[in-house]
Amino acid sequence: MFHFCPSCASPRIRFEAHRLFRCPDCGFVYYHNVAAATGCIITAAQGILFLVRAKEPAKGKLDLPGGFVEPDEGAIAGLRRECREELGWDPGTGFSFFASFPNTYPYKGITYKTCDLFFTLHAPGLRREDLRLDTEEIGGICFIRPSDLRLEDVAFDSTRRVLAAFLPEGQG
Ligand SMILES: [Zn+2]
Repeated sequence: MFHFCPSCASPRIRFEAHRLFRCPDCGFVYYHNVAAATGCIITAAQGILFLVRAKEPAKGKLDLPGGFVEPDEGAIAGLRRECREELGWDPGTGFSFFASFPNTYPYKGITYKTCDLFFTLHAPGLRREDLRLDTEEIGGICFIRPSDLRLEDVAFDSTRRVLAAFLPEGQG
């Protein structure tokens, strides 16, 4: 990511242990830390709510509502904000923590390592007409019954893992 030290311009800056840049000439250190991200398995009467990704990475693949947690924001607040932004729908705060898995998110030439926190939310009354999608970010939505879900259609390793853990044994 850095070819030269941002502090002293030394070309000897090195990336260590998958997470930090260190300059041996001036002592500059920069931690490329793991980022926190959220996702939510929203179960409605018609099935699990999925987004179709409109952008790379994994354009066209299925994704769960959620995203990166912002500075000074908690995971629940971040997930609620993402649902409002992506879906035009306020899910409230009744999320239940379900599982966490790591992910690798390549974006514009930089690889981000994330710690994905997954929640569940039961929303039996939720209908497509309740949602107003952010069409810049989202290509569409669909409700998929667990028995019809194919994990190969799902973006990201962490999301496939959480769905495999969520689905009844032997499915997906
Ligand atoms: Zn330096």
